[in-house]
Amino acid sequence: MNLPSTTIGCEPLNLAAGVVAFSTQRGCCNPSDPYDGFNACSYTGDDPAHIEACRHRLGMPYVMPRQTHSLNVAIVSSPCEPVDVDAIVTSERQLALCINTADCVPVVLADPEAGVIAAVHSGWKGTVGRITARAVDAMVAIGAVPSRIHAAMGPCICRGCFEVGHEVAALFREASLSDAVVDLTPKPHVDLPAAVAMTLAECGVSPDAVAMPCGCSRCRPDRWFSARKLGVNSGRTLTVVYLP
Ligand SMILES: [Zn+2]
Repeated sequence: MNLPSTTIGCEPLNLAAGVVAFSTQRGCCNPSDPYDGFNACSYTGDDPAHIEACRHRLGMPYVMPRQTHSLNVAIVSSPCEPVDVDAIVTSERQLALCINTADCVPVVLADPEAGVIAAVHSGWKGTVGRITARAVDAMVAIGAVPSRIHAAMGPCICRGCFEVGHEVAALFREASLSDAVVDLTPKPHVDLPAAVAMTLAECGVSPDAVAMPCGCSRCRPDRWFSARKLGVNSGRTLTVVYLP
């Protein structure tokens, strides 16, 4: 695989042959320093010089949205930083689609036959709103076929770590995602990756073609940024997908 692993610590994502996908690791860092390690996210309080140095290490043109927990999807064809967008889709080669997360689920998608890829930020709001299904719809609009789509999720918060308020659990139930809610006392938990997997199945993506996250950001803040562990003013894990 054509990973920039010599310059960035990466967790390769098991997506599809002919498609490169990975999530960054913080690298050698002080785990309790909220910005220490690889961080390319420009709107969570880090030093702009540090962000620029990290972005430079990507070594290729990229799209990196200003995410807002919206359900907005953009089809892109050149480097840009679209605002108020949480999912991006392209059929361009050598254009890296980048999503920043710290506990939310980064989802990458590819129909290798059509040459269409997507990257999605699926936090709890995006998951309840099925932003991943919207990304699949956008992929289909430019030639993808759901039964050919492969998906992989990057590191995010695990079910055991993701305690939520009763009102958030209720929203998952109302959205017909009850199976992702774990009833614990005093508070329920939500299994975000399971909810994303359910959404993908509804879209017609084969469960065999969906790779679940390799680890939990909150359990391993030495490896990945975690907003719950470090606060929202912290770095972000960058998840990247591109067609080489
Ligand atoms: Zn965890």
